[in-house]
Amino acid sequence: MSTLIMKFGGTSTGSEYALNRATELVFAQTGQWDHVIVVVSAMDGVTNLLLDCAELSLSSDFSAWEEKISLLRERLEGMIRSIFDGDRSRQPLLDLIYRRMVDLTNICQQIRIKGSIDPQDLDEIAALGERINAHVFSALLCKRGILSQAVEAINLIVTDTCHQSASPIQPETDACIKTLLSPLLAADTIPVVTGFIGATPEGKTTTLGRGGSDYTAAIIGKSLGADEIWIWTDVDGIMSTDPKLTSRARLIPEISYQEVYKLSYYGAKVLHPKTIRPACEDNIPIWVKNTFNTGSEGTRISKSQKPAMDTITAITGYINVILFTVQVEPGRELLMIKDQIHKHLVNRGIHILLSSLQEDEYTVSFAFDRKFLRRAIQVLIEAPILGSFDVPISQVQSTDNMAIIAIIGSEIHTSNIIQLKISTLLEKTGVHTHLMDRDTTPDCLVYLVNKNDVMTAIKNIHDEVIIHEQMIPFKAPSPIHHSELTLT
Ligand code: ASP
Ligand code: MG
Repeated sequence: MSTLIMKFGGTSTGSEYALNRATELVFAQTGQWDHVIVVVSAMDGVTNLLLDCAELSLSSDFSAWEEKISLLRERLEGMIRSIFDGDRSRQPLLDLIYRRMVDLTNICQQIRIKGSIDPQDLDEIAALGERINAHVFSALLCKRGILSQAVEAINLIVTDTCHQSASPIQPETDACIKTLLSPLLAADTIPVVTGFIGATPEGKTTTLGRGGSDYTAAIIGKSLGADEIWIWTDVDGIMSTDPKLTSRARLIPEISYQEVYKLSYYGAKVLHPKTIRPACEDNIPIWVKNTFNTGSEGTRISKSQKPAMDTITAITGYINVILFTVQVEPGRELLMIKDQIHKHLVNRGIHILLSSLQEDEYTVSFAFDRKFLRRAIQVLIEAPILGSFDVPISQVQSTDNMAIIAIIGSEIHTSNIIQLKISTLLEKTGVHTHLMDRDTTPDCLVYLVNKNDVMTAIKNIHDEVIIHEQMIPFKAPSPIHHSELTLT
C-alpha cells in the first residue's frame, strides 16, 4: 500500500487561486497512490489575525478588536461565496465560519473579563484558523468529485499540556490516527486534517508551536507508515541562502535530515524543526515543493545524503543575538560549569545558539536571541544566589548587537580547507569573529559576529566559498520565487 501525505501551508491555501491550485495537485496524485492524506494549516495570515484579536481584547480600544474580527470574517466569507458560488457546500461553510467567529468572540470576551490571557486561551483561538480551513479544503475536493472528509486533529493528536508548544503522546496519538483515519482510507476518502493543533487527554485544545503543521504531517506520516511527505509552499524548495541577500542563491535538490534540522535551528524558515525527527526515525523522505511552480522538482530531504568532503550545502544567519560571558572562580572545572549552566538555560526554554569556554580567562559564554534576555538574567543571576545550582559566578557580562552565521554541510567540522577559506575571507573583508563553535555538531560551523556585518558576511561566504569553490550540483532557480530561508 503506497501512502502519501500532502501538507499545504498558508500561502498555498490563502486565496481562491491558491486553493484551486492545491486541490488540483491533490487530484493529480489520487490515481498514483493507494492512500493520500492532506494536512492543511490556516490560510495565510489568519493565525496572526486571530492572535491579534486575543491581544486586542485586552485593550481599551474596543472598536479595534471588533474591526479585526469583522475583517477576518469578511475575508473568509468573501472567499467562500466566490469559490462555492452555486455549490451546496456554500451555506454549511458560511454557517461554520459564523460559529467559529462566535467562538472567537466568546473566548475574547472571557479574556476581557479575566483581564489576562492564558496560553490555553491562545491555543483555543489560534486553532480556529485550521479548524475552518480543513473544512474549506475538503469541500473543494468534494466539489471536484473527490471523496473527502475534514478531520479536526483535536481528536487525532493527543498531546501533553504544554500549551503553545505541545508534544504528542505517542501511543495514544498512534491509536487515534489509526482508528480515525483507517476507515476513511479504506473507503477511498481523502482525510483533510487540521495541522498545528492537538488536544490533551482531557480534551483541551493545544498547538504544536508556530509553523507546526509540518510537524503534524510528519506525525501522521510516521503513524501510517507513509512512503513520502510532500510539504507544499510558495518557494521552489530549500535554497542555499536567502535570495534577498544574493542573486546567486540556488535551489538545493537534495539535503539530509540533519542539515535541514540545523538550518531551521539557526533561523532559516524552512520547516518546523520538530518535523525532522518522526520522518528521520522511519526514513520517510520529505519533499519541499512549490504549489505555484510544479516545473521545479523541489528539495528532497532524506538520510541518504552522501557525505561529500569539503562542501557546503547552505548558509543562514540569526540576528538580534546577545552574548553572556560568565566569569567563573579560578580552579573550577569549566566544562562541567558550562554544561550545568547550559542545561539550566535550556530547561527554562532558552534557545542557545552558541556556547563556548575560554580556559585562559576562566569564562564560559552563551549566545541566544535577545528576546530571552530577561529569562537568562533570572537563570544566571538569580538561580545561583537562590542556591538552585552550584556555580560560583562572580560576574556576568553581556554584549549586545551580535549575530550568528551558521554554515551547514555534511561533516563540515572536519574540513580544515573550508574553515581556512571562511576565516581568510572573513578576515579579508574585515569581519571580526568573536567566537566560533564547531564542536556541537558535525554538520555545522557557527560563528558569532557583529550584527552589522552579518548580511555581507553571509553573501561573501555564500558567493565566494559555496558557489565558486564547491561542486554542488545546483539547479537554476525559477524566475519567480522568494525564499522562506530568511533571517530571524
Ligand atoms: N497556522 C499556524 C501558524 O501560522 C501553523 C502553520 O502555519 O503551520 O503558525
Ligand atoms: Mg510553514
